[in-house]
Amino acid sequence: MSLSEKLIKIHQGLDAHRDDEVVKSYIEYLLNWIGEDPHREGLRDTPTRVVKAFKEYFGGYGLSPSDILDKTFEDVSGYSSPILVRNIDFVSHCEHHLAPIVGVVHVSYIPNGRVVGLSKIPRIVDMFAHRLQLQERMTTDIAQTLQDNLNPEGVAVMIEATHFCLKARGVKKSQSDIQTMHYTGIYTQDHDLQKDFIQSCLKS
Ligand SMILES: [Zn+2]
Repeated sequence: MSLSEKLIKIHQGLDAHRDDEVVKSYIEYLLNWIGEDPHREGLRDTPTRVVKAFKEYFGGYGLSPSDILDKTFEDVSGYSSPILVRNIDFVSHCEHHLAPIVGVVHVSYIPNGRVVGLSKIPRIVDMFAHRLQLQERMTTDIAQTLQDNLNPEGVAVMIEATHFCLKARGVKKSQSDIQTMHYTGIYTQDHDLQKDFIQSCLKS
């Protein structure tokens, strides 16, 4: 089937949302559109590889926070200070250009009698990173998800990230990065806690 025949079929009502073959046709079309020959040897399997990669980049849509944060631990011997997980690295994609966002997330929470396994916080970060994102929304979503599911005294989240849509196109600012913060619970009122959080995050 030629590329145009495939695209005609797509517009006759195939469900592109579910059909890998349809998406591969779009990738082939895109390669052609940028001036490439999609049939040359190096590009022949590119649509298949891109579909596979996109499934990985955007695997976060099939996950829900309650699956990840299903288990908490009560036996913390009265521990009630902040728990900080720093430098959780992530790669996401901006929803405006589908360009990579690369950075780190720092998460602190103050338990209210219960804690969560430490690996669960990076998994929550990964869940949100593997969706199309705005850095601002990712910051508030991580904080609010932990607040809603763990019911701690408060949560603080900082993201420091580089956006490839700033680096590689438009204003082409290769050195700039973006920092965002969001607080919930006790963190929203207590400026000393905020200051300690920021200092701990920025400590190398
Ligand atoms: Zn962008």
